[in-house]
Amino acid sequence: MSNRGLYVHIPFCSHICSYCDFAKYIYDEKFISSYLDNLEKEILDSNLDSFSSIYVGGGTPSSLSEKELERLLTILKPYHKENNSFAFEANFENLTLEKIKILKQYGVNRVSLGLQTFNQDLLKKLNRYHDEEKIHEVINNLINEGITDINCDLIYGLPGQDFKILEEDVKKITSLPITHISTYALSVVPHTMFYIKKVEEVDQEVYREYYDYIVKTLKEKGFNRYEVSNFSKPGYESKHNLLYWRNEEYLGVGLGAASYIGNKRYSNTKSLTQYLKGERVKDEETLTKEDQEFYFLMLGLRLEEGVSIDRFKKLYNEDLLVKYQDKIKELEERRLVQLKDGRLIVTKENLFILDYILQKLLF
Ligand code: SF4
Repeated sequence: MSNRGLYVHIPFCSHICSYCDFAKYIYDEKFISSYLDNLEKEILDSNLDSFSSIYVGGGTPSSLSEKELERLLTILKPYHKENNSFAFEANFENLTLEKIKILKQYGVNRVSLGLQTFNQDLLKKLNRYHDEEKIHEVINNLINEGITDINCDLIYGLPGQDFKILEEDVKKITSLPITHISTYALSVVPHTMFYIKKVEEVDQEVYREYYDYIVKTLKEKGFNRYEVSNFSKPGYESKHNLLYWRNEEYLGVGLGAASYIGNKRYSNTKSLTQYLKGERVKDEETLTKEDQEFYFLMLGLRLEEGVSIDRFKKLYNEDLLVKYQDKIKELEERRLVQLKDGRLIVTKENLFILDYILQKLLF
């Protein structure tokens, strides 16, 4: 079977978070049926039917009603093979026990939850509405129904979040019975409420301090970093996201979704009106060999495992160590990268400055 992923975007949310710039709309029942019809058509039109993982993201997929959820999962059912990863993103406030039962029934085996922080004042600033009791209730429900592979997202660098609050968040999140933690440093981007309110990002040194603390503490608690911002218990790495970082193919369907098939990258329109009219693809880019090598390195070096020199040779018929000889040598001397077991790896303590290293290597 090919290592190709299927990403399905559900752009509807029950409320809009203050920092969010994803493709999303406030949930409105009147759009859903037509949206799901279009999703189904888009998958069929791709003529692809073999996927090694499925990821339903958003937006907030759990904002769909039970009936809508069943319809979505019925569309996806033919593409899910037992033992493959079938992941679903959800928010605590609308992932009811009934919806969890439906997810389980259709083979969903991984759920990713937008926890962000336990601090009530910060959650209010984010425009998010769950509390600790809800967090425990939803996670217990998932586990009782047999969905035990659970990710929670954690944000740091929020306005008003000091080190003490972060410590508390890390302490609480690591004591949950979950398998994976994705971390995000807040970035304030245009068209968000935080941007309008002129919220300032914290200094780089503070981010660095927070990041180092998170990496160290999560490791102590059994969550190993395998990608710059992602941590898991052994064997629970996100199979779907690994596809992206290993530069494998994926079909993305839905509003604003991106695909990478063959040597092409596509991205869909972010306009719901256009999407519902069947006018899906907005941009299409044909990648040159150089572009493909660039993506291979840029994405692969995010992983602690780095990139395989052999695979680079097989894919692009070039020797990575020859092509980038001088740059690798310089970065090696500065202990920013290392060559180990046939792989080029960013040294563990320098993953935080990955962007800088990529710039040195690729430009
Ligand atoms: S962060 Fe997630 S839940 Fe919040 S508005 Fe954005 S897509 Fe919706």
